[in-house]
Amino acid sequence: MSNSFPAKRIAIFGSTGSIGTQALEVVAANPELFSVEILTAQSNDSLLIQQGLKFNPNIIVIGDERKYQKVKEAFSKMDTKVFAGEKALEEVAAMNCYDILLAAVVGFAGLKPTLKSIESGKTVALANKETLVVAGDIVMQKAVENRAPIIPVDSEHSAIFQCLVGETRNKIEKIYLTASGGPFLGKKTNYLVNVKRDHALQHPNWSMGAKITIDSATLMNKGLEMIEAKWLFNLKPDQIQVYVHPQSIIHSMVQFEDGSIKAQMGLPDMKLPIQYALAFPQRIPNKFPRYDLKKPAQLTFEDPDTRTFRNLLLAQEALNTGGNLPCVLNAANEIAVFAFLRNRIGFLDMTDLIEKTMNHVHFIEKPTLEEYFDSDGEARNFAASLIKL
Ligand code: NDP
Ligand code: MG
Repeated sequence: MSNSFPAKRIAIFGSTGSIGTQALEVVAANPELFSVEILTAQSNDSLLIQQGLKFNPNIIVIGDERKYQKVKEAFSKMDTKVFAGEKALEEVAAMNCYDILLAAVVGFAGLKPTLKSIESGKTVALANKETLVVAGDIVMQKAVENRAPIIPVDSEHSAIFQCLVGETRNKIEKIYLTASGGPFLGKKTNYLVNVKRDHALQHPNWSMGAKITIDSATLMNKGLEMIEAKWLFNLKPDQIQVYVHPQSIIHSMVQFEDGSIKAQMGLPDMKLPIQYALAFPQRIPNKFPRYDLKKPAQLTFEDPDTRTFRNLLLAQEALNTGGNLPCVLNAANEIAVFAFLRNRIGFLDMTDLIEKTMNHVHFIEKPTLEEYFDSDGEARNFAASLIKL
């Protein structure tokens, strides 16, 4: 297929992860539309090298400085520039060699490089929801000031974004965020108390990185997504409703002021929202499997069980209260999930840890960026101190 537009130059931050590798599949299927300019990873040097040799980017960043030498040597005969360390990630994000940054780093670590990209007026395809949970007000403000478009990659937010195309003058009455319910849908506390990491890592509908898979099992993911939606679409907390929809076919819905509801549907496959964000405003053809409307024959919706999955209540409290509370919630959750993945604490202990941390860290109503960083650090230290040695 010939194309009169030059290829879009893509920077993939977190290229070795679940989102990153799927984005590279999308790029590989559309070489005339996309070129890879930057690839980054934290510690997976072998996959990063393999990706670099295949996609021939301008720049590669490895977070873990101990792996720099190995990565550097792999590209010694090529033009590719290799950098290492956390600061390099920010410096590279501010460079003028790419058009779109795909923010696919996991957790708080994604915030600083994404902010740098926004400050230099780049388009950001945002998978890293923690960026908006931690400092959504500042991130969105900077996006407006620098005319940097933010295109959601998270499937629910991509669905809402797609429903809003052509509706710029029309007000949103409310949105319905759909949740699969995760692997423990229908289970109660007496079951969850004994759940182990390997079981929690088995998601029924989506294959994702470890952190978000645990967040999906606890419903924290949906809570983080409510906060993400508030900032992306400028909503009040009571305009955001969560429904459990175990089939994961409707990815979310928008209800307008006339009562009309638009939904975006499809099989659960992250390559679709990734491709949509990278190609926006174009839709490009692909060979992904199509949804057969008769399979599953029924689409169902129910309220989430917040008595059992209390993480969703904690996230809603953070959403309603605002200030630095979502940032504190996020930091405590990252520590809790990390500890659970290492079998240091149980499934339900994660909720206790987050709740205690939210009650401990002092509240700031309108934090500066520095105060968000401080709140994150304080919450991490306190949450870690609660985990028995
Ligand atoms: P993964 O854990 O699979 O990948 C994370 C990526 O970030 C890897 O490339 C990893 O490098 C890199 N990374 C990890 N820690 C750091 C750090 N401290 N500094 C810099 N880079 C780091 O995560 P996912 O791809 O699942 O998720 C990425 C983001 O997208 C998350 O915010 C998640 O919530 C969001 N998202 C993911 C979805 C999914 O389907 N996976 C769906 C919707 C949203 P290395 O491999 O070397 O460790
Ligand atoms: Mg999602």
